[in-house]
Amino acid sequence: MPFPGTGPIWFNGEFKTWEDVNLHVMSHVVHYGSSVFEGIRCYPTDNGPAILRLDAHIDRLVKSAKIYRMETKFSADELAQACIDTIKENGMDDCYIRPVIYRGFGAIGVDPSSSPVDVAIGVWEWGKYLGQDALEKGVNVRVSSWNRPAANTSPSLAKAGGGYLNNQLVKLEAIADGYDEGIVLDVGGYVAEGSGENIFIVVDGGVVTPPSSSSLLPGITRNSVITLSRELGHTVRKQLIPREALYIADEVFFTGTAAEITPIASVDRRNVGEGSRGPVTKHLQDAFFGIITGKVDDRHGWLTRV
Ligand code: PMP
Repeated sequence: MPFPGTGPIWFNGEFKTWEDVNLHVMSHVVHYGSSVFEGIRCYPTDNGPAILRLDAHIDRLVKSAKIYRMETKFSADELAQACIDTIKENGMDDCYIRPVIYRGFGAIGVDPSSSPVDVAIGVWEWGKYLGQDALEKGVNVRVSSWNRPAANTSPSLAKAGGGYLNNQLVKLEAIADGYDEGIVLDVGGYVAEGSGENIFIVVDGGVVTPPSSSSLLPGITRNSVITLSRELGHTVRKQLIPREALYIADEVFFTGTAAEITPIASVDRRNVGEGSRGPVTKHLQDAFFGIITGKVDDRHGWLTRV
């Protein structure tokens, strides 16, 4: 599939054309994965385009950069404003926003301190991440043969380019074996997350999701879904989830900026519940989509108008 965007890119504080933003092949990031990034969505609403949880995403971006000692000259407010400006410059209302902070061309050794830290923001149209039917019918997933890195190896609280090599192994294995997505276990064998999503199980009407100590990226959609679950009267627990709990749960679903709230129809070729979207997943989807489409009051202040 050709890349779905070609519009102007915000680069270190100014707009450049798609063609004019280039990266030297000897840049630090190409060799060592030294980047941190975000994935954010902008939705069309009756009151115009609105970015979902922009502040939370920028906060995570700044914290990811801090973990890797990447200093930029841009403040969180400036980065947030730059996301808004990039959407406007591209004239979009329904799009995915990708800010990335990376170590550019400078030194070639592992020590990155003499490579510049560059910042870019691009936007493009991105449909349903796990397929058009996925939100209703659910996806078929396998438990990966790969594990998430141990807590004191690659920090899971940072959304960093190099960290995603592990996620790529999970995704590639799942696709090669005919699944839509993989679920990865932590180093202790407990459920962590999908290759690009957090995971929840539903047991007796309550929702359970693994704790951040299971080497997962604490997703912003995960946070939104926890809030909505409590509001809707579903109990919420963050606790270790053994693999086999996936097979016997009433419902299982993924959450993520790209995946939104996607039901899981089967795990390792065993149907979850009836093998289709369950009532709690639907309940949460309705609440979530109500807010992001602007049909329900944005009572948590999650939307930033463009
Ligand atoms: N885990 C991983 C590994 C991810 O890549 C993502 C997507 N950013 C998520 C979880 C979900 O995070 P969020 O809801 O913030 O998009």
